[in-house]
Amino acid sequence: MKQFNLAGRAAVVTGGNTGIGFGIAEGLAEAGAALAIVGRKAAKSAEAVKKLEARGVRAIAIEADVAREADCTRLIAEAAKALGRIDILVNNAGIAIRKPPQDYSAAEWRQIIDVNLSSAFYCAHAIYPHLCRAGGGKIINIGSMMSIFGAPFAVAYGASKGGIVQMTKGLATAWAKDNIQANAILPGWIDTDLTRGAREQVPGLNERVLARTPAGRWGAPADFAGPAVFLASSASDFVNGAVLTVDGGYSVQG
Ligand code: NDP
Repeated sequence: MKQFNLAGRAAVVTGGNTGIGFGIAEGLAEAGAALAIVGRKAAKSAEAVKKLEARGVRAIAIEADVAREADCTRLIAEAAKALGRIDILVNNAGIAIRKPPQDYSAAEWRQIIDVNLSSAFYCAHAIYPHLCRAGGGKIINIGSMMSIFGAPFAVAYGASKGGIVQMTKGLATAWAKDNIQANAILPGWIDTDLTRGAREQVPGLNERVLARTPAGRWGAPADFAGPAVFLASSASDFVNGAVLTVDGGYSVQG
């Protein structure tokens, strides 16, 4: 379907070298978009770029720490220069520190908020003039089930992911006039490096996830390709400020 075609468009995916971000980057590449993937680890990003190029699109890696505002400003400028334009921003980079709130240091709290939430604002802020120049664009922010639910081990993470949803709604209302749509995707439990440790360390987690997820399985990075292409393409031009769960039904299970 023509509406889903991203040929001639360029996308920045933070945390695009692995996990959900790479699943999204693969989807966007499959639809024809040029890609700039962002991460701190150059070797991991170089591997991912090779795989994306094999799909026949232009792909570059940008080394940056999205917790730093200056890095976000630079990465957007580098992507725009290398790819000639930017139409799509996927704010996906994220980390978790699992511990009860009373054991959190202020530095750990700030780290989670900086990487998971402030980074998304910094990148959106930096990309705005480029999207305006392109006549509009798409911002996709990655939240979590912790955008909806609480968990004793995820107070900072939940605050960052709740913030992602509200920030998305704010951007959607502010920039609709510029033909920019901002939407959020909330993943359920997905099998990636981020959750692999928890799956091994937290007794019963695997069983609880399987029992609560109506789909009866963990999600995979590839499950995000379709939703991301939809939200990155003109197929979603009247979808703005929406929150899309991609969770195998986890959040509607009673
Ligand atoms: P992974 O740990 O597999 O990947 C995280 C990605 O983020 C990597 O590409 C990493 O690259 C990048 N990254 C982390 N910190 C930074 C930083 N400071 N600067 C730049 N890049 C950074 O995570 P997932 O794929 O599982 O998660 C992706 C997103 O989805 C996150 O926002 C996460 O919170 C969210 N999510 C994940 C769920 C899951 O079940 N997996 C569930 C709900 C939400 P590098 O190491 O090179 O910096």
